[in-house]
Amino acid sequence: MATDLNTEGYTNPLDNPAAANAQISALLSEATQGEVAKPSISHPAGGNFSLPGGYVRGGDYASVRYDAEVRELTGADEEALTKARSGGIGKFLATLLQAGTVGVAGLLASPSVLSELLLGDRDMLLLEIRRATYGDEIVWDQYSCPWCAEEFRLTVTLDEIPIRRLDDPSKRTFEVPLRKGRTAFVRLPVGADQEALLAIMDRASDSEQNTILLSRCIISVVEADGSEQAVSGNPDFARSLGIMDRQSILDAIEKNQPGPQYNGVKFTHDSCGKEVPLFIRVGDLFQGL
Ligand SMILES: [Zn+2]
Repeated sequence: MATDLNTEGYTNPLDNPAAANAQISALLSEATQGEVAKPSISHPAGGNFSLPGGYVRGGDYASVRYDAEVRELTGADEEALTKARSGGIGKFLATLLQAGTVGVAGLLASPSVLSELLLGDRDMLLLEIRRATYGDEIVWDQYSCPWCAEEFRLTVTLDEIPIRRLDDPSKRTFEVPLRKGRTAFVRLPVGADQEALLAIMDRASDSEQNTILLSRCIISVVEADGSEQAVSGNPDFARSLGIMDRQSILDAIEKNQPGPQYNGVKFTHDSCGKEVPLFIRVGDLFQGL
């Protein structure tokens, strides 16, 4: 940091957001009362919001907390993200979450805390980092209607993306009925699972990635005779499952995962009158990066 700046009395909003906000409010009200030119204040925008899944410490559901805080990405973050991009999507995503997340459940956003979060909570962090950095509107300058092919400027606000909330923190593990009277006990994937999948994405097929996800998220299977076997971390077991059973478990994971439903936005195109489903990707959220 440059040492010739006069930083006396300056409170870094990241160190102490409440004090920084108080200083800014005081400055703004002074300016209003004094009828002087508006001060030009630049500070990282940020926001507090509620996680849709919640952070659970040490498997104790009673400890669940939903509070989280993000901030605007800065030029320094942009430089780090450009560098991280060459390390693959996993590295890019980890860098983005680390840079933009201030805290989760009263904890600093360390890599280990971020890796424990449900995917839906990580998606929510991305949404709020995007809001703090670029604002509420996602704009496609030339969106092509899939029905009539007309190109137009499409604007969607982040609030149009439906958020699914996990109403009970214990629902991060659940049962999935399988064929032949068996039942699987499954947990929702977290950041560590996503990191493992992204690390092999370039060289593994979709079905190989599914095997890894299933081997991590299936905790145990109860056979028709009532006997239970622990199968967590066993790719051979995930491969031995029938295709239908694998699909049932993947569908249940998808259905139970809380978070922003990026595929849940629909709009009606005025020109052709048809309803258009919109599929928003992370790349759409961060078009500038
Ligand atoms: Zn159309």
